[in-house]
Amino acid sequence: MTAVIIDGKKIAEGIRNEVGIAVKERIAAGLSVPGLATVLVGNDPASQIYVRNKMKACDRLGIYSVSYTLPEDTDFETLKELINQLNVAPEIHGILVQLPLPPQIDEYSVLSMINPQKDVDGFHPINAGMLARKESEPWFIPCTSAGILRLIHSVQPDITGMEAVVIGRSSIVGMPTAQLLCRNNATVTICHTKTVNLAAVCRRADLLVVAAGHSKLVKGDWVKPGAIVIDVGINRVNTPDSPKGYILTGDTEFDEIVNIAKAITPVPGGVGPMTIAMLMQNTLLAASRYSA
Ligand code: NAP
Repeated sequence: MTAVIIDGKKIAEGIRNEVGIAVKERIAAGLSVPGLATVLVGNDPASQIYVRNKMKACDRLGIYSVSYTLPEDTDFETLKELINQLNVAPEIHGILVQLPLPPQIDEYSVLSMINPQKDVDGFHPINAGMLARKESEPWFIPCTSAGILRLIHSVQPDITGMEAVVIGRSSIVGMPTAQLLCRNNATVTICHTKTVNLAAVCRRADLLVVAAGHSKLVKGDWVKPGAIVIDVGINRVNTPDSPKGYILTGDTEFDEIVNIAKAITPVPGGVGPMTIAMLMQNTLLAASRYSA
C-alpha cells in the first residue's frame, strides 16, 4: 500500500482563500476590518519566524495586524499592562501571545489574562474548559488541533468509532487534539513519556496523531496497516552538509510509514501550514462574532 500524502499546503490555501473572500465581503458591507495583535517576548529565532509568517498571512488576506516585540527580560507586570490594553482595543479582535515565554513569566497566568472572546489561540482556561466539556461549544478551538481535524477530514470525513491514539499531552497540541477527536466520536488514548509499550499502543490506532517533538519517534512497524497518520512534530536536526546547516524532520519515519498507512502528512507541508490558516479563520470568527 502507498499512502495518500495529505497536502496541508493546498488545504490551508483553500481555507485562506475562503477567509480572504469573507474579509472582503465584511469590509464591503461596512463592517470593521478584522484585527490581530501578536505579542512576542524575547529573541527566539523560531518564534520570530512564526510571528512574521502570521503577520504576512494577515496582510495577504486584508486582516489588520500589529506586532509587539518585548525584550527577553520583560516582567509579568509589563506584559499584563499590554494585554489589558489589547483586551479593550476596539480594532483588535484577536490576541496571540507567542509561546514559549521566557522563564520569569508564568505562561498560564498570561494566557488567563487574555479576553476569552479575543483568545484566537484557544488557550484561555475558559476555552480549554469548554472544549473539555461535552455540553459546551468552545468560542475558539486551538489552531493546530483544528487544523489536524481538517486534515483528517480530508481523507476520512467521519471518524466515529475509530480507535485514535495521540502521542503527547501538552496543553497546546496533544490534549486539545485528543479532546477534539473524542468530541468527534473517536475512541481516544493519550500517550506520553510514561506510557508503557508505546509501540504496542500505537499499533492499535486507526488514527495516529504524533505530537512529541522527538525526531522520527514512530517507526513503520508501530503503524497498523491502513491507519491515518498525522505528524505534528517539527524538529530541527543539525545537518552540516545541508544548505541551512539543519533539516526539518517530523516525529515519524515517513519513508517507512508511507508504505503501510492509508494516509500520512509530510513534514514540512502537513500540519504546519494549517495552524496559520486556522488562526486566520479564528480571527475572522472573533471579528464577526463580537464586533460590528
Ligand atoms: P511539548 O510541550 O514538549 O509536549 C510533548 C509531549 O510529547 C509531552 O506530553 C511528552 O510527554 C510527549 N513525549 C515526548 N517525547 C515522548 C516520547 N519519546 N514518548 C512518548 N511521549 C513523548 O511539545 P508540544 O508543544 O506539544 O509540541 C509537540 C511537537 O509539535 C513539537 O515538535 C512542536 O514543534 C510541534 N508543533 C507543531 C505545530 C505545527 O503547527 N505543526 C504547532 C505546535 C507544535 P510528557 O508529558 O510525559 O513529558
